[in-house]
Amino acid sequence: MTSAIDTSKELPCGFCHGKQEKHPCLICEGKGSFPGFKLKDILAIILTKQKDLRKSFPRNPQGDDTLILRANYVWKLARVFGGQDTGMVSTLALDIACTGDPYRPHLELIAQVVSDKFFGTHKAPAGATFPEDEKPENNVPNFEGMSHDELTEFWKKYHRASRADATFLVGERPRKTNLAATLAAYAMDRACAMKLREEGDIKAAETYEHAMQLRYESLPVDLRW
Ligand SMILES: [Zn+2]
Repeated sequence: MTSAIDTSKELPCGFCHGKQEKHPCLICEGKGSFPGFKLKDILAIILTKQKDLRKSFPRNPQGDDTLILRANYVWKLARVFGGQDTGMVSTLALDIACTGDPYRPHLELIAQVVSDKFFGTHKAPAGATFPEDEKPENNVPNFEGMSHDELTEFWKKYHRASRADATFLVGERPRKTNLAATLAAYAMDRACAMKLREEGDIKAAETYEHAMQLRYESLPVDLRW
């Protein structure tokens, strides 16, 4: 299950990108990065000994705070994707959960696979995936033609987008503010990578480009460019 994807690397915080300013970043608590994770550690938290998906999230799971937050996100999202207990989790809570975690696209992919396995679908009404023939209009730009300043402006506008701005950007669809935040993070990664390449720091630029790739792959197909 998704084992071909490498999730072992430490990646820059999707919110501050490791560039600490006056105040430490609230998302990564000033660390500037997020650790990698092992799929089996997440599964160990969300599955029972009999390898069933838990009906409730464990009270005292094994693992550090980041792992527990990630496992909780996967567990909740898998249930929402599968049409279970949709009333218990607000969409807003899910939009906020794991914001800034560079591995969020991976966690969402894992949640889809878990949902498929245990509920036979990841396309329940509250889920993130849109039916082929009902794709809403969107205004996602082609980031490749944008300057560093334009990318930064895009991030400012959409990283915590209002519902109206998110609807303009990705169309009326489930979890639109979450998708706007992913696109904003992509724009900021791209701006950082551009700057680092200009400065000749190719290795650091590649880290951002890796994160960009992950975010891109996490987008619904109709929002890609
Ligand atoms: Zn941060």
